[in-house]
Amino acid sequence: MSIASSIPHTFTRERRQPWLRSVPAPITSPVSPGSGRSAAQAPAVDRLTAPAIPATVAAPTVPTWNGGVVEYANFDHGASTPALVSVVAAVDKATATYSSVHRGQGWASQVSSHYYEAARDEVARFVGAREGDEVVFTRNTTDSFNLLARALPRRTQVIVFATEHHATLLPWEERRTTRLPVPLTHRDAEALLRDALKRSTSSSTLVVLSGASNVTGEYWAVERLAAVARGRGARVALDAAQLVGHRRVDLDTLGVDYVAFSGHKIYAPYGTGVLVGRADWLDKAAPYLAGGGATAEVAPLSTTWKTGPARHEGGTPNVLGAIAVAAACAAIREHRGAIESHEQRLTERLVGGLRAIEGVETFSIFGDDADRAPVVAFTVEGVPSPLVSAALSAEHGIGVRDGKFCAHLLVDALLADEDADVTTAVRVSAGLATTDEHVERLLGAVASLAANGTGTAYKQVEGRGWVPVDDQRETLVDLPW
Ligand code: PLP
Repeated sequence: MSIASSIPHTFTRERRQPWLRSVPAPITSPVSPGSGRSAAQAPAVDRLTAPAIPATVAAPTVPTWNGGVVEYANFDHGASTPALVSVVAAVDKATATYSSVHRGQGWASQVSSHYYEAARDEVARFVGAREGDEVVFTRNTTDSFNLLARALPRRTQVIVFATEHHATLLPWEERRTTRLPVPLTHRDAEALLRDALKRSTSSSTLVVLSGASNVTGEYWAVERLAAVARGRGARVALDAAQLVGHRRVDLDTLGVDYVAFSGHKIYAPYGTGVLVGRADWLDKAAPYLAGGGATAEVAPLSTTWKTGPARHEGGTPNVLGAIAVAAACAAIREHRGAIESHEQRLTERLVGGLRAIEGVETFSIFGDDADRAPVVAFTVEGVPSPLVSAALSAEHGIGVRDGKFCAHLLVDALLADEDADVTTAVRVSAGLATTDEHVERLLGAVASLAANGTGTAYKQVEGRGWVPVDDQRETLVDLPW
């Protein structure tokens, strides 16, 4: 694999600005959808008349270390989102006619098959699929990109930024992959890509882009980068795992050839993802899952494979998973404006609030003002990231993630200027289950950690990481069945 880097790349941490020192005022009024105004500029909007975001299932209550109980503040939407109420209802309804799909004449089978194909149509609408594009149901985004990697014409050159999640960084044949360094600006990204494309000698090139970083939440300039790729005859695959839940994706407008995302990051359960895009490479490729459903005809000495999505969906498909994804897509599509304004408020308060805390360092690829989803990676001076996340959970009922977020190259680059013992960060990622109270609770808890350290003593336990010395929480909970 070549590392295309003639430009030395160093990373600036987001500098805390003196004028950000005071914590911005708590959220009090939502922004009307599509107004493009910040919460501070927006006129007060009556909460009862503000456009509704789709409801997630009720947040559970969780125990704290000292025997308390508190509503769970889920700041881990970037990993997996809680289910939407409408998704649960759709799956519940479909369960009543649950039957074999594409294989039976029974009425229930026909209903299941109809739901499954209608789910494909809903996903196609959700991403603005073009005439002739295929919608293949997979297990998740990782699966989608592995499928695409197997479908590339021989000798296809792949160009990918080092910022990518491992799901999009790793599936490609190493010797045919050019890894671009982490860019400093959007223009830098374009220049790096243009340069790599000029040097590509292959007749077939695939550029792999991310819509939004799972580490910093920053949106990438997909339309501009895709135009650069197209200008050199390359195809573009978009990792929209962290994008479609926050911003609209339209294949045609963005000028990309393939898009992939996971249901469990858009308020549907685990186990279903999608790959949408041009049919030609997919139809020529060997079936991803050889088996029943993917075959047109099987003779003693030969097998004819179907074309279309079925070619890569061997075996009984995850019909309920596809229905769940479709229900989530439909809800997000319907409430897009309300979702964007809800998340804009959360993002402003989260980013501004965290940056204002003495001892907290937040990180970005493209700079302080970059447009981003409600996702922030940060460190707390003097408190290891695993201890930050353990304390937020044990003392405040707040769920976050710490580590390198399956994006090791990016996190290493972002933390390059930190002390040698700072090798991981904390990530907060908000979404539809996040309330204003959750945000204020998080900011208060992080401010307290940064100023005073943890609220109780912790020890490290093999397999569990940091736990309070006097932890009163039960580690075993009743099984759900
Ligand atoms: N791409 C990005 C940007 C992600 O954040 C993730 C998961 O966190 C993935 C791909 C992989 O998604 P999945 O684990 O559902 O395959």
